[in-house]
Amino acid sequence: MRITALQVDHLALPLDPPFHANWDPVPRRHAPATVVRVLTDEGVVGVGGGDTLAGVEAHAHVLLGTDPCTIERQVRRLEGIDFHGPRPWPIEAALWDVFGQVTGQPVARLLGGATDVLPAYASTGAARGPDGHAEVATHLAERGFRAVKLRLPAGDRAAAIDAVTAVRAAVGDRLELMVDLNQAWRMPGDLTTSIDVVAARRFLDALAELEVYWLEEPLQGRDLAGLAALRAGGRVRIAGGELHRTIADADAALAADAYDVHQPDVVLAGGLWRGRSFGERALAAGRRYSPHTWTDGLGLMANLHVVAGVGGGPYLEYPYDPQGWTPDRRDFPLHTPVEVDDEGLLHVPATPGLGLVLDEARVAATRRGGWTARLDGAGEPVVATHGPEGPR
Ligand SMILES: [Mg+2]
Repeated sequence: MRITALQVDHLALPLDPPFHANWDPVPRRHAPATVVRVLTDEGVVGVGGGDTLAGVEAHAHVLLGTDPCTIERQVRRLEGIDFHGPRPWPIEAALWDVFGQVTGQPVARLLGGATDVLPAYASTGAARGPDGHAEVATHLAERGFRAVKLRLPAGDRAAAIDAVTAVRAAVGDRLELMVDLNQAWRMPGDLTTSIDVVAARRFLDALAELEVYWLEEPLQGRDLAGLAALRAGGRVRIAGGELHRTIADADAALAADAYDVHQPDVVLAGGLWRGRSFGERALAAGRRYSPHTWTDGLGLMANLHVVAGVGGGPYLEYPYDPQGWTPDRRDFPLHTPVEVDDEGLLHVPATPGLGLVLDEARVAATRRGGWTARLDGAGEPVVATHGPEGPR
């Protein structure tokens, strides 16, 4: 089997009303998504997504004409693209989708098949007051979720602790509570500095009294020594690593004892194959492996297959905020949004590959542009860009 073309569509869904993410000073008026299709000479089409692939077209020719199912060789090609250009990992997800279809297996089975089901945690995104957080958490508990993550203001500890106190009072022990301070990285243009170890420790002491399950990104991401010092207290698990750029970065954090819960996202750092290997190393070291999935339904599914394959968790991030970030917005390129069952569980699709079914009409209606890389009649690689009308 050979790859004959890569086809990429950049999509955007208008958000009215806009979504106010706690970590982004700019209200989000569009939800972007990118869909990549790997086309083969045997008619099998693999689908992936979860990052923009913007600029990858300059390097895409190295994949044309190669066997999509030789994963280690493909990962090495993609690592070359990653080194010299943008993150290419949604393409590797699409290669796994091909491999799963060819072998007739869900990707999670090919990656180990440790489980077919994982408890989700509802990962909320909006800033709100204590009553608002309590109201949302109550809704989530009634919806069947077992855990929720709150985004809280690092610069206002009193307000943050009030919010967790209100949520704990509202839901008792029906939900595990995670807290994300989003201090590891910043959106472009956001010049706010991170809190320091002393301020983070005060958070940690208060959150320990409220039996918070983990505290995420309490410090800037490169402060591995500071994170390890916080961890050493042992009162609340420290989570982080969601925007690692490479698996080497994740390994450095593991070696530095920076986190109890490691969160590298397989479509943003290293891909599914290397992500699975990292997850195994983290688990062997006695740490938790629970990747970031806050991209879209395509990225969420790629991470679900890896975590189920290697047996990570115990919870997987399910981006869901009933006030602004709903499954139909998050998963708009898909025919059916990824849903959690009424016991708060995410199920790995039993269908071969990643189990992604595109809503082609929605893809066409939200397409802003894209590109296709293919071999011409003489076997030479050609890249053609397209507009909203789609590839010709
Ligand atoms: Mg986070």
